[in-house]
Amino acid sequence: MRFGAAEREAVPPAETMLIPKTETVLAQLRDLLAPRTDSRGQERGGLYPTHLNNFLSCSLRYYFSRVIRIEEEEEVDETLGSNEFGSWLHSTLERLDQEYRMKGKPVDAETVKAVLKEEYHTQFGNRVIESGMNLIFYRIAEDLMLRFNQLQEERYNGSLEVLQTEEEWSTVLQVPTAFGIIPVRVAGKIDRVEKLTGPDGQVTIRVADYKTGKVEAKDASPKPEALLTDTKYDKARQLWLYQYLVFKRMLDQGQLRFANGWEAGPETAVLAGFYSFRNLGAGFIENQLSLGDARAYVEQTEAHLRQLIADLFDPEKPFQKTEDRAVCQWCDYKKICGR
Ligand code: SF4
Repeated sequence: MRFGAAEREAVPPAETMLIPKTETVLAQLRDLLAPRTDSRGQERGGLYPTHLNNFLSCSLRYYFSRVIRIEEEEEVDETLGSNEFGSWLHSTLERLDQEYRMKGKPVDAETVKAVLKEEYHTQFGNRVIESGMNLIFYRIAEDLMLRFNQLQEERYNGSLEVLQTEEEWSTVLQVPTAFGIIPVRVAGKIDRVEKLTGPDGQVTIRVADYKTGKVEAKDASPKPEALLTDTKYDKARQLWLYQYLVFKRMLDQGQLRFANGWEAGPETAVLAGFYSFRNLGAGFIENQLSLGDARAYVEQTEAHLRQLIADLFDPEKPFQKTEDRAVCQWCDYKKICGR
């Protein structure tokens, strides 16, 4: 990892690593969280689950990564990294959904293998796959994609329909802060939205996130009060916000309309969950957070979010090192902050 000279100058010495929330920093934060539109007309900015997790685990890390934007430099390596592996699987799953399942075309083992291979070459060009670690990764990826496909067929046998993939959902929340009332865009990119029809005909919208790491049921079962404090619930916070975004749109618009023409009314059940590729046997690992019906869920979530964002803007609370040293273990900024 290397950092540019400009960023190095902006960082105070390690021993005094308390970053005050000056007017300038608060203005930067406000701009960061406000909704904006980029040159291509895409909505941008705001608070995403990863940003929130960063802030809750260590406010200094949030400052480095979001406010002054010190980014990890991409390392060029012939062997696939975990991020590359994850994005390769994600794009394969996305294409299988968009080009096959959502068009009513069957997905057999040969299709899975062909799309996986095409995506490998699209993403990694001519990086060798015939030997070494890349060959091992390739075999693992193929096995995971085939097993996932098979389990979907066996478990759901036509009762599961993919409605949407890789789309960003967002809303804007007005938040009273020490800096005045500010509009904050809350957003998340949702891997897959599914429609599951039960044996009794009851329909559930499922908001699914793919995880290439291991996820267990306990990772999706936080107590509501732990959501705002406990660093081990970073995955649960993601599901919490995804489910909120779906409920919020459903309530604001009175329904959800999908590209296939299906409309979900405001009473439709919504669940968020993970597909963990290191725990495929567990199936869809549901968000166990209980916040009541859609309206109660939205109200409680917004109260929590307002509290968190007000904390972020509180000039009495400088950005500082976390007390939980376990968080530092994999942090990119260890060398700067002296941990
Ligand atoms: S190393 Fe630890 S204290 Fe320093 S920024 Fe990272 S998480 Fe925070």
